[in-house]
Amino acid sequence: MKKISIGAEDRVFVLTGAGISAESGLPTFRAADGLWAGSRVEDVCTPEAWQRNPWRVWEFYSGRRADGAKAQPNPAHVTLAKLEAQLGDRFFLCTQNVDDLHERAGSSRLVHMHGELSRSRCERECGRPPVEDHAIYRSLSEVGLCPCGGRLRPHIVFFGEIPLEMERIEAEIAKATLMLVVGTSGSVYPAAGFVHWARQAGARTVYVGPEPPLNASAFTHVVEGKAGEVMPGLFQVE
Ligand code: NAD
Repeated sequence: MKKISIGAEDRVFVLTGAGISAESGLPTFRAADGLWAGSRVEDVCTPEAWQRNPWRVWEFYSGRRADGAKAQPNPAHVTLAKLEAQLGDRFFLCTQNVDDLHERAGSSRLVHMHGELSRSRCERECGRPPVEDHAIYRSLSEVGLCPCGGRLRPHIVFFGEIPLEMERIEAEIAKATLMLVVGTSGSVYPAAGFVHWARQAGARTVYVGPEPPLNASAFTHVVEGKAGEVMPGLFQVE
């Protein structure tokens, strides 16, 4: 396998998706049947679903919390943490995942553009920051209220809502000379468009995953394989 060289002048922007956590036992989304852990996105991950039936949403994310707590980082997460340790502030990680496997592998220069399973926030957007919340709820009556009286909702970007940290992400992509995208189908925007922004800025663009993503033609290099198998030997840091 041809190694990806990272030179002293390179700045690396990494985008990860559900595929990087697949070998940790967390199901991806959409790949096979359009379901995520047996649920339709419309029922559990939209503002309308939350308005209609908040318990159905909390039940789903409580299940994801339980699965996430049992999962362990795999060699792909560990490879990215080691790359960060070597590159320092020339490395930036943006994940679409809501699990915390990157942090548990040792990554710290990262943003969760679609939110985090381990936090909750006020449904009224009252301005209070998200709070840490690892609870696995068994009924809606267990879910706490914000001091303003609003119900707490998962700190998750539902479909139709604006992703988090977009200004910072855009600034990091503009500086990057190498974009590495791992385990994402290229179907959820704006993340699926990041590779185009990177190409416009002149960066090399590399995809890693077992099958080409929908936006494969925008990559200068596609490495076909499971992330946990191919990532550990993929990089040559000069
Ligand atoms: P997706 O399910 O649409 O696509 C998953 C991609 O991963 C596919 O292209 C598939 O080929 C690839 N893949 C499967 N196994 C792989 C492996 N071993 N190594 C590398 N790649 C592999 O996921 P998405 O594009 O990330 O979009 C789904 C959205 O749903 C995300 O934005 C996220 O917010 C949410 N989600 C999060 C999690 C999580 O946190 N673990 C899990 C499912 C969905």
